[in-house]
Amino acid sequence: MGLIVQKFGGSSVANAERVMNVAKIVTDTYKKGNDVVVVVSAQGDTTDDLIAKAKEINPGAPKREMDMLMAAGEQISISLLAMAIEKLGYHAVSLLGWQAGFSTDSVYSAARIKKVDTKRLKTELGNKKIVVVAGFQGINKYDDVTTLGRGGSDTSAVAIAAALHADKCQIYTDVDGVYTADPRKVKNAQRLSEITYDEMLELATLGAQVLNNRSVEMAKKYNVQLEVISSLNPIPGTMVKETAKMEKMLVRGVTKDADASRISITGLNDVPGVAFKIFASLAAKNINVDIILQSVGRDGTKDIAFTVSEAHADDAVMAINSLPFIGDAKVVRDDTIAKISVVGAGMETHPGTASTMFEALFNQDINIQMISTSEIKISVLIDRKDADRAVAAVHEAFFGNV
Ligand code: ASP
Ligand code: MG
Repeated sequence: MGLIVQKFGGSSVANAERVMNVAKIVTDTYKKGNDVVVVVSAQGDTTDDLIAKAKEINPGAPKREMDMLMAAGEQISISLLAMAIEKLGYHAVSLLGWQAGFSTDSVYSAARIKKVDTKRLKTELGNKKIVVVAGFQGINKYDDVTTLGRGGSDTSAVAIAAALHADKCQIYTDVDGVYTADPRKVKNAQRLSEITYDEMLELATLGAQVLNNRSVEMAKKYNVQLEVISSLNPIPGTMVKETAKMEKMLVRGVTKDADASRISITGLNDVPGVAFKIFASLAAKNINVDIILQSVGRDGTKDIAFTVSEAHADDAVMAINSLPFIGDAKVVRDDTIAKISVVGAGMETHPGTASTMFEALFNQDINIQMISTSEIKISVLIDRKDADRAVAAVHEAFFGNV
């Protein structure tokens, strides 16, 4: 018995049958004596469809109005789920973000949660209601509706779990946990029973699409026990927590991120301040830079290359070309790359992870173009057309071919 927050993604509530299935899971949890708060996303592709509708009318629509529109998707799913729960003979109440106490800043479409005022949630739980909350939304200081950015419902669920000191936050989805690689692409990908916040954060950031990375950040900060679990297959999922058993694993996962462009600047003057000015010009445009490589200076010149997400590549090239010192330096953009990464807390204490990864790529005759590492991850940049083959080979090197 305790307080459990359960979150269901868009595919888990895509149609009437799925909504009833969710109502069944929720009421089963309630029946065991738990208080239950449920957070849901918009049904299926609703959010994408709403965005498409807006584009038809005004591709440059004000972000405030986009948030007003997108937040409507979740209003549909919470009311439908509350009706489904009532149909099963239990009492439910649906609440929009603002009703559930979510205050955010005013960055429309990417708002950050400032506070969850739990008064209403506690009252409804006190009345023995199952509380169904719209994910992905809140309200700012002007009383305007905001949204938290795509995939933001995970963060809504974790925020409620943190604010209510819930015993557990279960993220229900259409996969049955976190895998060592994308199970649709890598045949022997294994389901993990446990993973640390830091590993999950790296995996989420590097392209594994099970959890929104902000939600993992928040779970780590407030020590919320997260479970990634299937809404269709009733087996235990993956626990995300502070420490996790290694199960003899050096590496926890292999990911691919094909959303990357490399920008190379060759023939820069080898004087102090060049890197600073380049990256300051990108920061000023809010462009996030990933892997950075600078060559050793030679004959008074040096080269700098870095990656950004493809959506930012045009702006990045423009920002750099407008720098006064670029002069004769050459700026080249390359969209044919992908980033492959291995993640695992075990590599901090075990040498040889990098060489195992590089050998696997060498055996496939795949050339590494750039490398970057942190304590618990190694990323390489390779040709995009080799990406799936690379993931399979690297995965096999660490997990075998069973
Ligand atoms: N419905 C929103 C989206 O599709 C929020 C979410 O799914 O978490 O991005
Ligand atoms: Mg969605």
